[in-house]
Amino acid sequence: MKGKREQLLSELRSKGITDERILQAFLQIPRHFFLDKAFGDWAYKDVAFPIDADQTISQPYTVAVQTSLLEVKKGDKILEIGTGSGFQACVLAFLGAKVYTIERQESLYHKTSKLLQDIGFGHVRTLFGDGYQGAPRFAPFDKILVTAGATDIPVNLLEQLAPGGIMVIPVGDEYVQDMLQVFKKADGTVETKSHGEFRFVPFLPGTSNQDVKNTTKKSGNSNSDQNTGNKIMLE
Ligand code: SAH
Repeated sequence: MKGKREQLLSELRSKGITDERILQAFLQIPRHFFLDKAFGDWAYKDVAFPIDADQTISQPYTVAVQTSLLEVKKGDKILEIGTGSGFQACVLAFLGAKVYTIERQESLYHKTSKLLQDIGFGHVRTLFGDGYQGAPRFAPFDKILVTAGATDIPVNLLEQLAPGGIMVIPVGDEYVQDMLQVFKKADGTVETKSHGEFRFVPFLPGTSNQDVKNTTKKSGNSNSDQNTGNKIMLE
């Protein structure tokens, strides 16, 4: 298994990931636990992969990019929107952050909460709810990471970001999003930097319990080629 992980590391290095702490996370965290057993072979390839509830585990390269843009420091309090498989949350925890992560799909929330307990990441705090609301009970956060494609920067999340904090959020339409690094200055003003195009599953309002109302509206797109965390290859 180590051979495959080393291979993934050299692939990430060749794509420009240089932070050794992040590379160590990919070496140490058993990514095959985050995919269904039958697909374990895919765990160390640099691709996004389907998980439960029509969602995906992000491509390793995307996880590495989002993590480096967060500029994680030991002890940072980080809110992640979109727990999904839980892998990204573990990378942040591996770097010494205190992680809160929210998932809107109830089944995924239960499955991933249990997995994190089982593999020694029980200190990651999993929450079931609508990420648009953030987690006001635990705010402010030093960093906020959104792992679903948003159409704009949610005001609630900006409010829950501490002055001096960083939010990383892909913003665009349903097909392609721009990876934004949002800096909230000490005086509360905001500056954004753009880091290229990615494609994520959509940042949806509400929780899965409310989806019956939404399915008719959304079903036209739900099986489209939205493929979480796949960097769009322009070449
Ligand atoms: N970070 C994940 C990637 C998950 S894909 C990983 O490492 O595997 C994006 C996730 O965002 C999906 O699980 C989706 O259900 C979730 N999501 C979408 N909209 C949301 C919202 N409003 N609140 C919380 N989670 C949301």
